Amino acid sequence: MTETAAEKAVKLQQFFRERLAWIEAEISAACQRAGRSRTDVILVGVTKYVGPEVAAALHQAGLTDLAESRPQELWHKAALLPDSVRWHQIGHLQTNKVDKTLPWVALIHAVDSWRLLQAIEKEAARQQRTVDVLLEVNLSRESAKHGFAAEEMERIVTDLAGWRQVRVRGLMTMAALNDDPEASRPIFAELRQLRERLQGQLEPPHTLEHLSMGMSGDFPVAIEEGATLIRVGSILFEGLAEGEP
Ligand SMILES: *Cc1c(COP(=O)(O)O)cnc(C)c1O
Repeated sequence: MTETAAEKAVKLQQFFRERLAWIEAEISAACQRAGRSRTDVILVGVTKYVGPEVAAALHQAGLTDLAESRPQELWHKAALLPDSVRWHQIGHLQTNKVDKTLPWVALIHAVDSWRLLQAIEKEAARQQRTVDVLLEVNLSRESAKHGFAAEEMERIVTDLAGWRQVRVRGLMTMAALNDDPEASRPIFAELRQLRERLQGQLEPPHTLEHLSMGMSGDFPVAIEEGATLIRVGSILFEGLAEGEP
């Protein structure tokens, strides 16, 4: 007997409920170790590995925040999934894709140049929106391709004064890929310390409340070091064969 689409969807949701419960336990344990409240950390599910149906099942299973690294893929999925999803653009965003991206996103994580910041401000004004963004900082140097240098951040946050459509909400970083999660800890700690140094220098509406750091391999360490947004992809989908449990 072949399964109906509805039966498949129910199975997928069950798979994700269990997977989310397991990740939730890891997040809670890390929060407890760090003396932080569970409500201070947002789990962002990175759906770049799967199609819209699987992403929809993940959302149905209870995950509100979903992310894509390629803007075209974000537009595609966002148009198909319910409005209740909060979409995060986490990968590099080219200036020529800003206009189509703004209507869909709750947060842009990887603003990595002054030129992109200007393009978002201009387009947000045209679309009469405010847009929340994070500034990507390149702390792993040789391994990361994008991001501001830590040394230029002071000037960047000072120059934000007067900008109104684009609202900086925090910082984001990518640690180098490594089998040992502890290898990411110095990078995560550096982002937190950078935030502390810069915090007094921003004027409203800009804030540095968010730190987007940590992925499947190192999110518990990132939480211990102060992450408020963790970007988790592969461990959500491990064990799914061709998008099915
Ligand atoms: C793919 C991706 C992630 C998720 O990585 P996993 O190791 O699969 O959890 C997080 N952040 C960015 C920017 C990504 O491109």
